[in-house]
Amino acid sequence: MVVLGIESTAHTASVGLVDEEAHVLALTSDMHRPVKGGIHPREAANHHVDVFPALVEEALAAASVRPSEVEAVAFAQGPGLGPCLRAGATVARMLSLAWDCPLVPVNHCVAHVEIARVLSGLDDPLLLYASGGNTQVIAYGRGRYRVLGETLDIGIGNFLDKLWIELGGTFPGGPQLEQDARNGSELLALPYSVHGMDVAFSGMLTAALALHARGARRADLSYSVEVTAYAMLTEITERALAHRRHGSVVLGGGVACNERLRGMVREMVEDRGGRMFAPPRNLCVDNGAMIAWTGHLALRAGLSVPVEDSAVMPRQRTDLVPAPWRELATALPRSSPPRETT
Ligand code: AMP
Ligand code: MG
Repeated sequence: MVVLGIESTAHTASVGLVDEEAHVLALTSDMHRPVKGGIHPREAANHHVDVFPALVEEALAAASVRPSEVEAVAFAQGPGLGPCLRAGATVARMLSLAWDCPLVPVNHCVAHVEIARVLSGLDDPLLLYASGGNTQVIAYGRGRYRVLGETLDIGIGNFLDKLWIELGGTFPGGPQLEQDARNGSELLALPYSVHGMDVAFSGMLTAALALHARGARRADLSYSVEVTAYAMLTEITERALAHRRHGSVVLGGGVACNERLRGMVREMVEDRGGRMFAPPRNLCVDNGAMIAWTGHLALRAGLSVPVEDSAVMPRQRTDLVPAPWRELATALPRSSPPRETT
């Protein structure tokens, strides 16, 4: 049984085909890269409309799956940019009608947790979700995923992207800033904004730009921003861990591709006797496979919707969405070993 997943919350249009044992049969993605500045929602949505037909065809061909073999179509309902979400939802509705199969709405943040959970074999981990627009520490409790801590202003990835563009670079900034930071040596003082379980980045952005204007070396700035921002994320993750029975952490989101962040969180978790797992990079970033897999789980819990009830929800919060599959004994191939996927 195969579920097709459609992801289109922000800059990435992606299609995943996943079977009932969470094997990723195909994953096709195309990222909108603005020539200048950050993402414009309408331009990104136009990009998605252009690329989705080919992404769907390529995914089906790569997996040798016929439409009649697709059990359901899942799509990211929110949170995300309205026009981008609508582009993906329209494709999902059309495929579900054409192929006469259920339509399953999925919360994007929950999908990051579920793909990391099944790949790691960890039953009840904490998720540090660090992406462009989202920065949250998430854990399951009583029927739904709860946000234990989050950014009070901008997402960590948007912060890194904005800083990098202001320093004269191009989108996406995070990976380029990571390279640049390798040449940094001096740790510059930047605002360290942890508020209980929450973090904030706009003060650090202002301070970093002020240091740049005063002639600080870009590599030192990149290095200092990474060390300071990732220490903040590691601290709130550790505080959340201290309140839980289980000691494991999984990572999700594009910024979770970062080696320094992975290393800092791993060291903290292992110091506490727990396990840290980060999915392979193509399943850490926004991808259709995590939507398809969460679609499987939701479908088993009876969560499909008719087209008329499938409106997108740009501000859909992680903690507003029920996750009834977590209480189903059959919902997850339990104690599966960690495995790498293409
Ligand atoms: P997502 O929103 O989850 O697709 O992730 C996109 C974000 O991840 C963008 O803000 C990127 O700049 C950021 N990103 C991707 N790779 C890295 C990296 N290696 N280090 C830091 N940020 C990254
Ligand atoms: Mg994401």
